[in-house]
Amino acid sequence: MKNNLHQEFQKLYHKEAQHTFFSPGRVNLIGEHIDYNGGLVMPCAITLGTYMLTAPNDDQVFRFKSVNFNETLEIPIQNSYQKNGDSWFNYPLGVIHYFVKGSQPLQGLDMLYYGDIPIGSGLSSSASIEVVTAFAFNELFKGGFSKLELVLMAKKVENEFIGVNSGIMDQFAVAFGEENKALMLDCDTLDYEAVDCNLGDYLLAIINTNKPRKLAESKYNERVKECQTALKKLQLELDINNLCEIDVQTFDLHKHLITDATVLNRATHVVAENERVKLAAKALAGNNLKEFGRLMYASHDSLKNLYEVSGAELDAVVEYAATDKNVTGARMTGAGFGGCAIALVKKDSLDSFTQGLTEYYTAKIGYAPSVYSSLIGNGVGELHEEAVTK
Ligand code: ADP
Ligand code: MG
Repeated sequence: MKNNLHQEFQKLYHKEAQHTFFSPGRVNLIGEHIDYNGGLVMPCAITLGTYMLTAPNDDQVFRFKSVNFNETLEIPIQNSYQKNGDSWFNYPLGVIHYFVKGSQPLQGLDMLYYGDIPIGSGLSSSASIEVVTAFAFNELFKGGFSKLELVLMAKKVENEFIGVNSGIMDQFAVAFGEENKALMLDCDTLDYEAVDCNLGDYLLAIINTNKPRKLAESKYNERVKECQTALKKLQLELDINNLCEIDVQTFDLHKHLITDATVLNRATHVVAENERVKLAAKALAGNNLKEFGRLMYASHDSLKNLYEVSGAELDAVVEYAATDKNVTGARMTGAGFGGCAIALVKKDSLDSFTQGLTEYYTAKIGYAPSVYSSLIGNGVGELHEEAVTK
């Protein structure tokens, strides 16, 4: 597909594309539903993502087309834009809305997108398309924004233009990812460290449950609210700005302030998950994948029972993984309610894992999952010809 993209661009716009940009998707290894609580997360960029081909036009318009979707948009250069229904092009349009504030001199641009990442499956295709657009505009129109500013711009698109109250993790991971490294990101201070992610005899398997995440948006926003409620209660006794500022012991001393059982469960997950990320970093540094795997299972268990963002499909994947001796850990990744799980599977056992999982999952859920193995790749950048046509 990659090599056809230039032909597709030519066919569509009757000229050659001049630039090709790429932004990856991401998986979060551990630290789920933590980013909007100011805690630690551990995502990495994957090698699937979003391509964006561009060429300038003299018509003072932006033209948007995606190989993955039918709708197209042609819109004049303006000082601001508005969300247009639920169309895919709201994501890049939102980026441009914030980019043109400050009225950068702009020329028209013809754009073609293509994602080889499963879309709407929790691998953050949305952050991928936002960040690739922000990066491309910054390069092409000399916006002068730092990469972090582009990340914050992309987050603003998701939060204010699209209306999902997501944290900083996804945009950060797809922008700053590094090959074979996991990013230990403090979502409060935005300090991060790219830590070696040596998986030894194991590979990273991504399992798409193929369940559309229909409820995800509203439930996500509900969880954000529940965490805010928990924080307000704890602030009656504690001088904190987010839930992840406290450890499990401190939480235990003050959790009586949270009287609603559901809210208490949510906060219990957040505080313990933040600690699991610290332990996971230690396990990774010591090449202790068994411990890392144990923490992945514990994370899933907490997301299932306390945070209630899993579901029969994600649980079925993790249940099966726990019975396979060639798997050292598995968990849901991303917001949940469907989407993807990840598993660390022995390199020579991916086929038997896929076969066993597919049988178990299909018998239980009624349709098959999709299994990918992914490398840990780099963050957003411009691609040069060899990389595009290979
Ligand atoms: P996720 O980020 O988990 O993949 P979201 O629902 O947050 O799922 O974002 C998916 C949306 O992002 C798509 O419905 C579409 O609007 C937009 N999108 C992502 N990738 C592309 C693409 N390649 N082309 C067009 N739109 C895309
Ligand atoms: Mg998304």
